[in-house]
Amino acid sequence: MKEFIPYGKQLITNEDIKEVIKILKSDWLTTGPNIEKFERKICDFVGAKYCVAFSSGTSALHGCMYAIGIKKGDEVIVPTLTFLSTANCVVFQNGKPVFVDVDEEKLLIDPKKIYEKINKKTKAIISVDYGGHPCDYEELENISKKFGLFLIADASHSLGAKYKGKNVGTLADLTVFSFHPVKIITTGEGGAVVTNNEEFYIKLKRFRNHGINLEVRERLKEKILFYKMEDIGYNYRITDFQCILGISQLKKIKKFLKRRNQIAEYYTQKLSNIKEVEPLKKEKDIYHAYHLYVVKLPNEKIRDGLYLYLREKNIGTNVHYYPVHLQPFYLKKFGTYKGMCPVAEEMYKKILSLPIYPSLKKSQIDYVIKNIKMFFKK
Ligand SMILES: *Cc1c(COP(=O)(O)O)cnc(C)c1O
Repeated sequence: MKEFIPYGKQLITNEDIKEVIKILKSDWLTTGPNIEKFERKICDFVGAKYCVAFSSGTSALHGCMYAIGIKKGDEVIVPTLTFLSTANCVVFQNGKPVFVDVDEEKLLIDPKKIYEKINKKTKAIISVDYGGHPCDYEELENISKKFGLFLIADASHSLGAKYKGKNVGTLADLTVFSFHPVKIITTGEGGAVVTNNEEFYIKLKRFRNHGINLEVRERLKEKILFYKMEDIGYNYRITDFQCILGISQLKKIKKFLKRRNQIAEYYTQKLSNIKEVEPLKKEKDIYHAYHLYVVKLPNEKIRDGLYLYLREKNIGTNVHYYPVHLQPFYLKKFGTYKGMCPVAEEMYKKILSLPIYPSLKKSQIDYVIKNIKMFFKK
């Protein structure tokens, strides 16, 4: 294949482009009416009361740490097998991320291992729906209730997924989505928080806008000359042309998710006769968003070999993720250490994410599968 096949990529249609151009020609490039429109569409889609769109999933996570009042001395439980932002957002507010290991089958935070990390300083749990598979929210809710902790779902991978018939976005106090190009829908860069809590909603809106209590159009409408800054905040706003792209993308999300599920089923079926390749487990009572299709290989050497072999064949794969507690920053500044999360430390050496995205063609999937087979026949 001449064309490189990445592990993930966006699908932008002509309709998306037309919508964005309309906004580029309008009066409001940012702080305009399309922010709220996009937020309302997300609320309707997931069945949440409030939504605040942000400049990225990372800034949305930061907003959550602000909304629940994380400050110096507070601890927040996070899984170690995740993207950096899940832990970094705690540090942004001077809190301490406490890393918990994952289970071996789905690579989700292991509820049994959360108990031993809870103490008087613990304020919250951030769960990550790794690859698009929702965590065990029944169990996470039990723990949160029992110890009076906030539950924040980092659902950057799982927009549109369901847990026991309930939508992701309704299973935690605050839920974060990311609209980075490799995620389920895209706005270029972008993110959002959904919640049913009005107080969180007000705080999130303020935090996104320098800590100011009113937005530009509200001031115009109410004829208020001065703005009031109530607390420290950031410029974490998303633009109107990004939001119109999000609205246009959201119209296609059902199709996107269906296609991702089809590709995953096809991989699982076709790879089932290669004994060295083991897909992650999927529970029966969930709807998977399949942001990632992850397989486990026998060891690091074979994994690295397969990665290089596929790379030669113009196929992009990736490792999600190098455990965050082993990152130099956390080793140095938070005293994390090797051996702290043994399952994640073993699993990151064996996993590989294969290409999966809505525009991936059957011929391309067959080409990926053929080359995996070839690698093991060598
Ligand atoms: C993508 C991602 C984020 C947010 O990333 P942004 O690029 O800032 O939108 C957060 N957590 C996880 C697990 C992610 O994969």
